[in-house]
Amino acid sequence: MTVLPTVPVLMYHSIADSPPRGTAGLAVTPGAFAEQMALLADEGFTPVPFSALARGGLPARRPIVITFDDGYADFHAAALPVLARHGFAATVFVTTGWLADAGRHAAGRPLDAMMAWSQVRECASSGVEIGAHSHGHPQLDQLPGAALDDELARSRGLLEDRLGAPVTTMAYPYGYSSARVRRAVRAAGYDSACAVANRLSPVPSQAGGPPRGYDALAIPRLTVRASTTLATFARVADGRRIPLIFFSDRVLTKGYAAVRRTRYALRRVTRRV
Ligand SMILES: [Zn+2]
Repeated sequence: MTVLPTVPVLMYHSIADSPPRGTAGLAVTPGAFAEQMALLADEGFTPVPFSALARGGLPARRPIVITFDDGYADFHAAALPVLARHGFAATVFVTTGWLADAGRHAAGRPLDAMMAWSQVRECASSGVEIGAHSHGHPQLDQLPGAALDDELARSRGLLEDRLGAPVTTMAYPYGYSSARVRRAVRAAGYDSACAVANRLSPVPSQAGGPPRGYDALAIPRLTVRASTTLATFARVADGRRIPLIFFSDRVLTKGYAAVRRTRYALRRVTRRV
């Protein structure tokens, strides 16, 4: 039996002690995050940027990917210093219309304080990989073709303009994609994208074709949440010992349902005022 090479891809949202209501389940405290990163360092993991999964050429020593969605201000304040201390690579997927100084490009309604462009640039110059996460954070699978193309092109275009570097990777808002969305993502110039599936990502080996089940535009991630204990985190990072609860779609769906409900509630309030 061939053992499929796999790499854990961790997904974080905000790193905060008191996140806004409705997002608390997905927020990790700065203390817990620091402990988790220290554990990765102690255990000899080598964090790599997300795009390295699609490019191949991963380090032999315990590769792992650390990702953050949305671009919250607390990434810059609370996560970046910890990552820098350990010399860890990470990837942040930025919702460009949500940024604090998005100005005339503002779109959607962020759930919390977001980074400003200067902070995104600072992250990039500190070696953090910046990926796109759509422009206004819609459910991409529900958009008609032109609106979908606009979401994908605008976020990538703004990031490339402001950072002066190519952006070829993205994460789907809410983790949703469909074959149609993935075709549009490919056409918009992205060569890798991540979903949420709470399973390990098989990775292409140096020799031979991609492994079965590998799709560079739907690379699965593992959700680190407020309730993830350090012991559970250690098992998740290890990859071969992921607790069964991480494979439960029900748990995941509940987490995202809460975020979606919050967003719908916000939209209703917005319409009323
Ligand atoms: Zn998001």
